[in-house]
Amino acid sequence: MKKRSVLAVCMAAVLLLTACTATPSPLTATDTVATFTDVTQTQLPQSVIQIPSSLVTSLPSAGSDNSVASVASSKPQSKPSVSSAVSKPPVAVKPETNQTKIVNYVKRPTYASVQSEIAALAQAYPELIQVGSIGTSVQGRDLTMLKVGKGQAKACIVAGIHAREHITVSYTMRCIEEFCAAYTSQSGKFGVYDMVNLLDSYTLYIVPLSNPDGLEIISGRATPNVTITYREDKTTGKLTTIADYKANANGVNLNKNFPLLWDQVDTKRPTPDPENYKGTAAASEPETKALMALCEQNDFMWMTSVHVRGDCLYWSDTLNPKVGLSETIANQLKTKCGFYKCKTSDDVNGYGGGFENWFRQTFQKPGFCLELMPLDIKVTSQSDANHQSFTNTVRWNTTYRVFPIMMIYGFIE
Ligand SMILES: [Zn+2]
Repeated sequence: MKKRSVLAVCMAAVLLLTACTATPSPLTATDTVATFTDVTQTQLPQSVIQIPSSLVTSLPSAGSDNSVASVASSKPQSKPSVSSAVSKPPVAVKPETNQTKIVNYVKRPTYASVQSEIAALAQAYPELIQVGSIGTSVQGRDLTMLKVGKGQAKACIVAGIHAREHITVSYTMRCIEEFCAAYTSQSGKFGVYDMVNLLDSYTLYIVPLSNPDGLEIISGRATPNVTITYREDKTTGKLTTIADYKANANGVNLNKNFPLLWDQVDTKRPTPDPENYKGTAAASEPETKALMALCEQNDFMWMTSVHVRGDCLYWSDTLNPKVGLSETIANQLKTKCGFYKCKTSDDVNGYGGGFENWFRQTFQKPGFCLELMPLDIKVTSQSDANHQSFTNTVRWNTTYRVFPIMMIYGFIE
């Protein structure tokens, strides 16, 4: 989660009255598309939106996608409110049952479990999944990447860049299995989404665990390479602890380490920290370098970094307020998944050094920071509680739609 998301929530009352303040820019073909908020098959302006006919059959009609057994209907939640910013303790509920065969998303992942599940997925779906590596972490763990799909279009999905946000790893891994299971099913469908068309059009480059050392550190199976300074949290007045750990093994917040106005970013954390140290230099960390190389070596249509929490989407910053189809996608995720569409990030301490911000600036393509989880659910970084109530924690009944929507509305032929 980003500090700026908390700020955004605190300003919710203001935002209610204030439209998204992206800097106006000259109209382009893609800007025209951005005015559509709920495109249906019959409304598609083919001359402008450029969605290939093979994908059009994947488009949902309004309210028609509640038909999958593992995907029950659910009313989207409203955007985060000020009153919901105070976390409630997790409610003791009966752990839910895993609905997938390989990915065990009702339990906290470990580096070993993710590696094992990736291997099992590749074995179960050899025609759809190729496994590779984009590098290694500070402590030598593999930064494993899955290529999922057979299509020409490429997109990038990264999860788990912040150690304590491991529910994002489970969410992304479940998506991979569900997409492949749907592709090979008789109908080929995932909800109303035609996964055969989508994965024949796309290859998704997915790094589900981009900070493996951090995950192992927060779970007590590894220790940082450096001395970490725990400080008072100004919001709660409590000392940060290992439960708050977001960083990599060098105590660096990887999402502050990308070379985008890095010199100007002041995180108030000059030394290795569980949350907000930006590192000794831009792209000082091997995980940062590996993700940059992945993006530089591939022509991605869009990228998404999955975080918690806030049920909101960061899609725009002052440097690049409106890139390509970014607002079209943001509008779809707002309408169909209930995500709050954040205002344009205008504080360099918020967007500087950020992965998706660097991606937007470098490639002029949509880059997203997706914050799963309602704010009234506490992050249980050192227990399985969030995972045991996975459906509720990530609002799976609607957020299962996120990547199919990005694939459809982020496509340019
Ligand atoms: Zn995060």
